[in-house]
Amino acid sequence: MAPDPCYEVGMSTLTEANVEARTQAVLEAVGSEGADVDFRSALWDAGLAFVQYPQGKGGLGLAPGLQSVVERTIRAAGRSFHPLGVNVIGIGMGLPTVLTYGSDDHHAKHLKRIFTGEDIWCQMFSEPTHGSDVAGLMSRAVRDGDEWIVNGQKVWTSGAHVSRYGMLLVRTDPDVPKHKGLSYFILDMESPGVEIRPLYQITGDAEFNEVFFTDVRIPHENLLGAVGEGWRVATTTLMNERVALGGSTLPRGAGNIAFLVDLWEKRRTDLAPAAAALMRDRVTRLWVEAEVGRLTTMRARAAAASGNPGPEGSTGKLASAELNQRIWNTGMDLMGADATMHEPGYSLVREEGSGGRADYTLSKQFLRSQANTIEGGTSDIMRNILGERVLGLPGDVRVDKNVPWREIPS
Ligand SMILES: Cc1cc2nc3c(=O)[nH]c(=O)nc-3n(C[C@H](O)[C@H](O)[C@H](O)COP(=O)(O)OP(=O)(O)OC[C@H]3O[C@@H](n4cnc5c(N)ncnc54)[C@H](O)[C@@H]3O)c2cc1C
Repeated sequence: MAPDPCYEVGMSTLTEANVEARTQAVLEAVGSEGADVDFRSALWDAGLAFVQYPQGKGGLGLAPGLQSVVERTIRAAGRSFHPLGVNVIGIGMGLPTVLTYGSDDHHAKHLKRIFTGEDIWCQMFSEPTHGSDVAGLMSRAVRDGDEWIVNGQKVWTSGAHVSRYGMLLVRTDPDVPKHKGLSYFILDMESPGVEIRPLYQITGDAEFNEVFFTDVRIPHENLLGAVGEGWRVATTTLMNERVALGGSTLPRGAGNIAFLVDLWEKRRTDLAPAAAALMRDRVTRLWVEAEVGRLTTMRARAAAASGNPGPEGSTGKLASAELNQRIWNTGMDLMGADATMHEPGYSLVREEGSGGRADYTLSKQFLRSQANTIEGGTSDIMRNILGERVLGLPGDVRVDKNVPWREIPS
């Protein structure tokens, strides 16, 4: 895939050793006690947020594979750091979308604050009647001079309650086929007419929300891409979402699989010998699958050209969502009858912030993982994308593709 022009600026020839030394310099300047926001700010200024980004915009115009040098160096210094952690949707999806389609003013206003987590962002695509078929959505924006007036409703909006800005996809022309009548705006979530209501999940938490718009006014300058080009912009967001959700860069054996191995160590003596042998096989198989996923992500990263990911990004999303569910299912099986009760520490309180759910207990992880094969596009949709756009298999039946949106029966 040809790189996006915005990523081609300032290609330089820094080596791995240069990148490591640059990262060390940031670590020393901020100090081990330095606040996370200061550390992220310094990484951004040094071009180490995402080394493949242009110089002056969080990067150095390097090959994306060199980002692993930054992360390795930070980890070796003992500093806890997850590149997306403070603002998963903003950093994983908003940042590349604004970088690709935003003006210089958008870049100056938003990019760094997204990366530092000073401005949390959310994604407002899904609607009550349009999730997988998001291109058919119904929320409308009508132009009024230098502003657009938005009415409608979004649903499942993760983190809307803590977000300063939202990526908003709305219909601006109902008289053309569904993919062609959409536009994409940056919405200030504090605008009058935006109402956010929590939606509670099976976990007891409420990560996501319903968001209602009543005559919400958005300045025209908040448009990303041209009027009617919203589907193209949204595709960039979605492709990045799949990579953000699907690609782990943790060290070998870390993350969810570490939790499972630890649990296995604690529980195995409680099992009968035959059950223990079967369970050992299951845990081992999952460890191997986790490692294969990790190495595949690393290989894909090293080989990736600069620019936005393509449909192949759905591979990691599909595989990791299903692996996650198998890991937590196995954890519950290891707990036996104890799995029927919530453990001490299980919180039914709504999480603050937009990430960092490291304190989740096993049963909460198990319940939360049911969403993995739905959020960011269901596994069925991932298989469709991979089948059609990567393997070149015949396409899904799309009877409404060329019909004006207004004429599609709802
Ligand atoms: C935890 C979580 C967080 C979320 N956060 C956000 C967010 O921040 N912002 C946002 O905009 N959305 C968010 N979503 C919504 C998510 O993107 C949608 O739920 C998802 O795209 C599926 O849409 P749907 O729920 O309307 O299901 P539907 O589209 O109605 O699908 C129902 C079933 O039909 C299947 N199906 C549908 N179409 C096809 C097809 N063409 N081929 C084969 N099978 C098909 C699906 O796989 C599914 O099994 C979130 C969802 C979850 C669970």
